[in-house]
Amino acid sequence: MRNVAILGATGSIGASALDVIARHPDRFRASVLAAHRKVDELVALCLRFKPDLAVIADAALETSLRDKLAAAGLATRAAAGARALNDAVSGELCDSVVAAIVGAAGLESTLAAARAGKRLLLANKESVVMAGPLLLDAVSAGGGELIPVDSEHNAIFQCLPHQPRAVDVERLPGGRPDLAAAGVRRILLTASGGPFRGRKRADLAAVTPDQACAHPKWSMGRKISVDSATLMNKGLEVIEAHWLFGAAPAQIEVVVHPQSLVHSLVEYADGSVLAQLGNPDMRTALAHAFAWPERIDAGVAPLDLVKSGALQFEAPDRDTFRCLDLAYRALAAGGTAPTVLNAANEVAVGAFLEGNLPFLAIAELIEATLDAISAEPVADVEHLVHVDLTARQTAQRKMRQGFC
Ligand code: NAD
Ligand code: MG
Repeated sequence: MRNVAILGATGSIGASALDVIARHPDRFRASVLAAHRKVDELVALCLRFKPDLAVIADAALETSLRDKLAAAGLATRAAAGARALNDAVSGELCDSVVAAIVGAAGLESTLAAARAGKRLLLANKESVVMAGPLLLDAVSAGGGELIPVDSEHNAIFQCLPHQPRAVDVERLPGGRPDLAAAGVRRILLTASGGPFRGRKRADLAAVTPDQACAHPKWSMGRKISVDSATLMNKGLEVIEAHWLFGAAPAQIEVVVHPQSLVHSLVEYADGSVLAQLGNPDMRTALAHAFAWPERIDAGVAPLDLVKSGALQFEAPDRDTFRCLDLAYRALAAGGTAPTVLNAANEVAVGAFLEGNLPFLAIAELIEATLDAISAEPVADVEHLVHVDLTARQTAQRKMRQGFC
């Protein structure tokens, strides 16, 4: 029996992870559930899954959580705050951790789970963008495993030549596979193109948050939905692929594939290209990551290739969706630049979702913030947290000053 901590239990990935767990009560148990502020939703999940511990990130809500758990007659203990979250993922209550908090807020708990040697099911891509090398070192030091849950990275992981028993032996320091030794030439990251695929800049000046969040293929939280609409999601994923698989930026190509059935591909030296296909449903990646190297039912409908029809592939429109190149720029600059990129993006997306920033200004604000803060070598997590804060303040100041 695996005991699983789900960080971001009330979110979209959290719901998919709990759905997979509920299908396999003989194999998995949700032992820790954590959320940001939605106490009632968290208590409702506790009623259903009976975890040992519920953690609410906002410390002001601890009493409310404790009282509501008690009123519901549950034995689930309550805890609150970032420290409690880190303790929960590091301790005895779990052996697997689903890192599904959105944004930089997930960094410290993701690192804590890695250091503690847990099986880390990584959805929180922002943490690997900010702290890729530190996260890989933490996985190595902890002696656990990192299984990517982001659908593209999970697909790539599936297409790479892992030998279940030999993974540790084959890994380079830092936990990455040796792509050259494996004969890998390129990684092809697929992108749906988002809700605005085919539109030009002039068409996008007045788009609303609800239009940006109406993703044609995936149902996701609002922040990642906007990232998909700007293509920043793919930019973050390029950086994620760089760290997780040790691929040079020039080895990672983004291909738009509107059907979202091919989740990514790996090209080998002999010309073979291996792809992973499936219906666009995150339960596939989660079930794969929970059970790896075994395979279990995910509740996902079988892929009907005849009904799904033609598969299209096209180049991304980098002039309209400038965030993709901004991510390549941050990756090339290295050091703290991806942290600055991520922080500016979080500020810009937050402002867009609140109706305070036009869609096209998201890329402009990120660019202005990258221009303002030069990249430095990463010292440690505290350094990254400081850079993250500085970048947020810079982005907010630029927004107040009407940077564009
Ligand atoms: P979501 O908005 O639906 O859920 C976010 C969860 O994080 C919620 O449970 C919320 O309570 C929690 N949270 C937010 N801020 C927090 C904080 N400060 N402290 C603690 N918890 C906090 O988001 P999502 O779509 O589930 O995405 C979660 C992560 O997974 C993101 O990093 C996203 O990029 C990644 N991801 C999501 C999908 C998807 O299909 N939804 C696919 C790939 C990767
Ligand atoms: Mg993805």
